[in-house]
Amino acid sequence: MVDYGIKYWSNDDFIIEDGLVKVNYQNKPALLEIVQEIREKGYKGPLLVRFPHLIHKQINQLFNAFKTAIDEYHYKGSFKAVFPLKVNQMPNFVLPLMDCVQGLSYGLEAGSKSELIVAMAYTNANAPITVNGFKDKEMISLGFIAAKMGHHITLTIEGLNELESIIQVAKELGAPYPNIGLRIRLHSTGTGVWGKSGGINAKFGLTSTELLEAIRRLEDSKLLAQFTMIHFHIGSQISDISPLKKAIREVGNIYTELRKMGAKNLTCVNIGGGLAVEYTQHEGENNRNYTLSEFSGDVVFSLKEIVRNKQEKEPDIFIESGRFVSANHAVLVAPVLELFSQEYDEKALRLKENNPPLIAEMLDLYQSVSEKNAIEYLHDSLDHMESLLTLFDLGYIDLTDRSNTEILVHLIIKKVIKLLKHKNHNDIIRIQEQVQERYLLNCSFFQSLPDYWGLGQSFPVMPLDRLNRRPTRSASLWDITCDSDGEIAFDAKKPLYLHDVDVMKEEYFLGFFLVGAYQEVLGMRHNLFTHPTEFSVVFDDDLNKGYEIENLLEAQNILDVLDDLDYDTKEIERILKQRIDDSGISDDDKKEVLGMLYVMLSENGYLRTITKDQ
Ligand SMILES: *Cc1c(COP(=O)(O)O)cnc(C)c1O
Repeated sequence: MVDYGIKYWSNDDFIIEDGLVKVNYQNKPALLEIVQEIREKGYKGPLLVRFPHLIHKQINQLFNAFKTAIDEYHYKGSFKAVFPLKVNQMPNFVLPLMDCVQGLSYGLEAGSKSELIVAMAYTNANAPITVNGFKDKEMISLGFIAAKMGHHITLTIEGLNELESIIQVAKELGAPYPNIGLRIRLHSTGTGVWGKSGGINAKFGLTSTELLEAIRRLEDSKLLAQFTMIHFHIGSQISDISPLKKAIREVGNIYTELRKMGAKNLTCVNIGGGLAVEYTQHEGENNRNYTLSEFSGDVVFSLKEIVRNKQEKEPDIFIESGRFVSANHAVLVAPVLELFSQEYDEKALRLKENNPPLIAEMLDLYQSVSEKNAIEYLHDSLDHMESLLTLFDLGYIDLTDRSNTEILVHLIIKKVIKLLKHKNHNDIIRIQEQVQERYLLNCSFFQSLPDYWGLGQSFPVMPLDRLNRRPTRSASLWDITCDSDGEIAFDAKKPLYLHDVDVMKEEYFLGFFLVGAYQEVLGMRHNLFTHPTEFSVVFDDDLNKGYEIENLLEAQNILDVLDDLDYDTKEIERILKQRIDDSGISDDDKKEVLGMLYVMLSENGYLRTITKDQ
């Protein structure tokens, strides 16, 4: 059976059992069961399903991995972390996260004023806040306000001008001050598509010369005692651990040098984010060449070595992993609306009494194809199709003949694939590339998988059921935007096979996994498709079905979407009503049309799936 590479990417969060994808937790409900429960309440279109227990799981793994490494190497510093809000700012992620880290040194990282306000409101008492990115005086003042509230906040300086502003604000607002961090511009370069975060030409950070100058200015303004952290971030989704080790060596040495220069309160090395997530569904296509315990072990060991050589205090280790903490908690479920070649059904044939000889032959091929002659007949039928299409261009056969050709060739291919389904015949693979089935999904890739569109990032995808049946169709996926970029094409090197379903009779859902990092706020409203309807699945042993649906938030309705764009929706309603009033239709019709229109305006813009029960 095809397992969609679940063993590579799911980290045991999800499993396949009884032909269904199940949540591997407590009573192990099937994803399909959860989705159907929501749909029965009338929520159609794509669904974003959150699993707060998976946030908890990641946090536990992270803290346990570092605890193990710290114990193993008898490391003296402690471990602290923050969640970088830019990776997921949604309240239904952030609030459960803050809930499960109570008692841990785990807070939030902010890169803008709005994010800082979220951090100031929701970071638990005594947990850290860090602030990165470019800051004006107002944002720095906000950091001082956080410090006055009692937050353990560190403002990371990206350039000397920011330091100047901090010195000014400190004079104006007085103590208590926030802590100050310095971002290091590394000599060693970053990796991956996000590599611009590191390296000598990086967007962020201080050169060594600027570092020396920063220390001098801090000393002069009596703020050196506030300087507690140095920071770097080599980029997201680090595939190989060696650039990180190199960066740690560089930063470890800077740490010891700065301490020797008198920065006695510098006790913390912040290694940024970058811990990778395994997205691959295919053997040999791994996105990272290390495990979490190798990552934590390498970080702790490297820092220990450097500091020992320089006889300095072992620093606290601080990390800002976002992707690792949030990616797995969310699954996008998209209903399949249509299979485009579904019309190629035997019933659709319009055979004549006298068919052109090649069509008669194709019909014969279709009826007599067997496992033995499958490949030969397949080639014959493709040759016939070529000839028939030429005959059509030359005017020798009509549109009905052409339609029969299309249908017959599809029927033959389907039959051949079925006959040979247990053999990985090269011809079959090649043929499947040519006859992809296009699955139309009720979602927008621009809205829900923007990194697919922007960076070519692929996410694991699989059907929620029928997993005890072998999928036979090579699939390309299409979203409902009218943009040709809204397509995930079939890739013979990383093939996706799906089931042959008749969506007029039965439902078929695809799940996209690991979509909890970066995809939500980055998503765009191309064609005005909005954030999908979302909800959280909260497990509770005491309940009959073992879980509860919480925080259900319906996708925005059409009027609200237009309102967000600053359309005057009252005016839109008035104009539409006027146009109906002015039309020549009867009063009864006017009433009915207006009623229908109002219902649509109050619904979200996704399509309503067309299946048997509607
Ligand atoms: C984006 C970012 C992170 C998060 O990176 P992940 O790869 O998601 O772990 C951490 N720190 C900084 C400074 C960032 O800009």
